[in-house]
Amino acid sequence: MIKLDNKKPDPRALHLRKKHIRKIESQPKNCLFPGCEHKAIGSHLLQKNGIMDLISDVHGKIVTQEMDTFTNQVHFVKKGYGKQITFPLLCKTHDLELFKEMENPNSLNPFNLRHQLLLSYRASLGELSKQRVFKEASIKFLNDKEIIRDYGISALERNKEYWDLCFEESSYYCESLGYQLGFSSTPSTWQTKFIFAIKEIDFLPICCSTIFSDIKGVANCAGWRERTNRTVGDIPIYIPPSVLFHIIPGSNSTYVIYGYAESEGDRISWSKAEVENEKKDLWLRRINEILLLSVESWYCSPDFYTTNIAPRKEMIESFISERIFEKSFDIPFSLF
Ligand SMILES: [Zn+2]
Repeated sequence: MIKLDNKKPDPRALHLRKKHIRKIESQPKNCLFPGCEHKAIGSHLLQKNGIMDLISDVHGKIVTQEMDTFTNQVHFVKKGYGKQITFPLLCKTHDLELFKEMENPNSLNPFNLRHQLLLSYRASLGELSKQRVFKEASIKFLNDKEIIRDYGISALERNKEYWDLCFEESSYYCESLGYQLGFSSTPSTWQTKFIFAIKEIDFLPICCSTIFSDIKGVANCAGWRERTNRTVGDIPIYIPPSVLFHIIPGSNSTYVIYGYAESEGDRISWSKAEVENEKKDLWLRRINEILLLSVESWYCSPDFYTTNIAPRKEMIESFISERIFEKSFDIPFSLF
């Protein structure tokens, strides 16, 4: 939230904002597939059987992070993957039909372009679904006299414009991935194709499926351009390129899929060739960096948590909590 969080939040206004967001989160949502008006069910970003089973314990538990979106405080929590980690993305029919080809038992092939696109499509829907909540909340804030009194109408209007823009940007990714998958016969507004690099590494009991802003690319790349001349209020909004990132454990190895829009290839921090030519140990360092700096939620096995995270839990949690404000990208430790 750009402007809103630049000031010290008034506890009462903060409480009201949280209340609106919790309420919106708990309301039923529509399917995000274009044109579908059925109600969304709780979808997993990664299939339970076959992927998550490889990292969950005998009780079906995994360890993940939870973030308070207002304070940015992150905590590791042990959760059941089955029912506790779902998102309102698609209706029952679309959730089943669109992903069937990679979700029949043992059918996911990380080297298959279609499967890479399908994983990315669902991860992008996950992002869109989070932004839908903030977009709807920004409208509620504008109708709440107490929040207006505390923040001022112009900051709230800018906040709404900002979330509209984020939602629109995420929609472009979903639309373009959907078009490349053949889900829509109408060419997407943003004409691009997606390309992927894949690395096979030794088995790691970690997984994630996500899309994130390439913040390191933005910071490093002097030639970074705006895609649009959008402003929120009078502040120009620079839209960083996004990276699709999946860590998929297999029975003997773990596969890391890294993708981006071809049209953004010149401003992404690591190209397909760079990823593919990276040595295994350096690539592991890169995964460490991506998980800690850019990925909002990743999952690991309870055993991995006990060995690699628990002994320095506070340091890791505070590093993740503060990463948004960090100007340096040097990480003084490795998760592995
Ligand atoms: Zn649907």
